[in-house]
Amino acid sequence: MLRPAAKIITDYTIFTTTDCNARCFYCFEKNAARIPMSPGSAEKTAGFIAGHCGGNEVSISWFGGEPLYNMEAIDIICRGLRERGIPFNSKIVSNGYLFDREIIGRAKVDWELRSVQITLDGTEDVYNKAKAYIYKGVNAFRRVIGNIHLLLDAGIAVDIRLNIDTYNADNLTAFKEVYPEIEACGDCPLYPDCFRLVKCDECRNCFPENRADWLSQMRYEMRSAFYGRRKIVSPNEAITDSKLC
Ligand code: SF4
Repeated sequence: MLRPAAKIITDYTIFTTTDCNARCFYCFEKNAARIPMSPGSAEKTAGFIAGHCGGNEVSISWFGGEPLYNMEAIDIICRGLRERGIPFNSKIVSNGYLFDREIIGRAKVDWELRSVQITLDGTEDVYNKAKAYIYKGVNAFRRVIGNIHLLLDAGIAVDIRLNIDTYNADNLTAFKEVYPEIEACGDCPLYPDCFRLVKCDECRNCFPENRADWLSQMRYEMRSAFYGRRKIVSPNEAITDSKLC
């Protein structure tokens, strides 16, 4: 009797936790229970991946919440794959706050981390207000900018994401003043990407009445702001209604 071939799976998005150290008003997990992946589940995940990759290289995207809030799960899965001789690489969607030199070194070597997507949402004041981190008395924006430098210095690519709403639309054009500061790191790939449109919870009708014109204007302004940079917002892509962080 013929049996169907085992399905080969080489791409995974793994939620290490739904918990996060930020409190963005637009977070799609805002009211979700804060649950970390347990060490046991992480062990089983490594076994599952190893059993379904057919010996091929596996690509993992770490997601959350803030995936770095549960680095233990990442360590367990990566160690489990390595012990089984499974080649892998990874990327992460992170707010960037929890990185430091030691974690970046570990991520590069142990997690095979190739790229990080970090959301900035605007200049210092706007960012700190929108992200509303749980920590008191720290300038989260400066810390994240510093971590972007550390990541790039380590040869890990960084994608900057901007979530757009009317609350920060004016500020995003001012963001061009921040961008050269990040870009000054050198030749590592870095570009503004993934422009998203979000609605705030306080006001469900905060989009301008003429939304299409408003979006066109935003595209134009972003293209002007980043003209000449490595990647420019395309006229036909990138602004969407998605609510991912
Ligand atoms: S949007 Fe991302 S960074 Fe903000 S609270 Fe949600 S998971 Fe955290």
